[in-house]
Amino acid sequence: MRVITTIQDMQTEILKLKSQSKSIGFVPTMGFLHEGHLTLLKRAREDNEIVVLSIFVNPLQFGPTEDFSTYPRDFERDQSLAECEGVDYLFYPSAKEMYPHSSSVSVIVQERTDVLCGKSRPGHFNGVATVLTKLFNIVLPTRAYFGKKDAQQVAVVEGLITDFNFPIELIPVDIVREEDGLAKSSRNVNLLPDERRQAVVLFKSLTTAKETIEGGERNPRAIKNVISNLIGSESNGEIDYVEIYSYPQLKALDYLEGTCILAIAVKFSKVRLIDNIILEVSHEFGGVK
Ligand code: AMP
Repeated sequence: MRVITTIQDMQTEILKLKSQSKSIGFVPTMGFLHEGHLTLLKRAREDNEIVVLSIFVNPLQFGPTEDFSTYPRDFERDQSLAECEGVDYLFYPSAKEMYPHSSSVSVIVQERTDVLCGKSRPGHFNGVATVLTKLFNIVLPTRAYFGKKDAQQVAVVEGLITDFNFPIELIPVDIVREEDGLAKSSRNVNLLPDERRQAVVLFKSLTTAKETIEGGERNPRAIKNVISNLIGSESNGEIDYVEIYSYPQLKALDYLEGTCILAIAVKFSKVRLIDNIILEVSHEFGGVK
């Protein structure tokens, strides 16, 4: 595995690989790798001749009061995990390398950002889309792998790839969870022990909501109440949002039908956690996948 820290070196390598018609699988991350990231890397390894992992905690996608400075980092550990997964290139640029001067152009996401994390984190998806545009141009991947844990991000990236004509196949990957159901996240280490115990309620509330839908409930408000009440009764976390939308359009629904996302965000003392489930809801009683 080669660690590359400059854009120029990365582009030189990529152009060599492209001239040999190699397929390139790309996994963009912010590091502090866990089983979720490793699953993306395994998929990329299976599908492509070359695997590129990027680790970059992108300042552009953090708001002024968010956790940029406390975001967990451990490059040495990430490097050995990446090596074990058979990564060929680890792209690890500094912020100065990625943003040497204030940008004269940035990417603005026009749709699907007025809800969920886009609403709670103004500017977040513009930061994500801007850095991904740069990374896609640097890495020129054949396929790019993204986790459904960040389901809104998957929807936004789908729009970015389509609208900007990137010749990239987007591969969404299922959420990887801890044994007790908590979605794996680099941020989980910043939960206090008691908060870590309480955090199981996120997935529990989503599975309870799914059961309610299987029982025939199709009213989004009633389902949102089930989720909010459970989170409120089993944790001290502050609910940021509990929402149900069509997916991937992220449009409000009066009645659950078709592909729907149940998405939640809960703030603990130092960490804001997100989770979701995506369901296929049919009109008939119990028709949920
Ligand atoms: P991050 O380092 O948090 O920016 O995540 C990098 C990529 O890993 C994103 O595409 C995430 O959606 C994905 N990812 C993070 N956590 C998980 C998880 N628990 N399961 C699947 N994918 C994940």
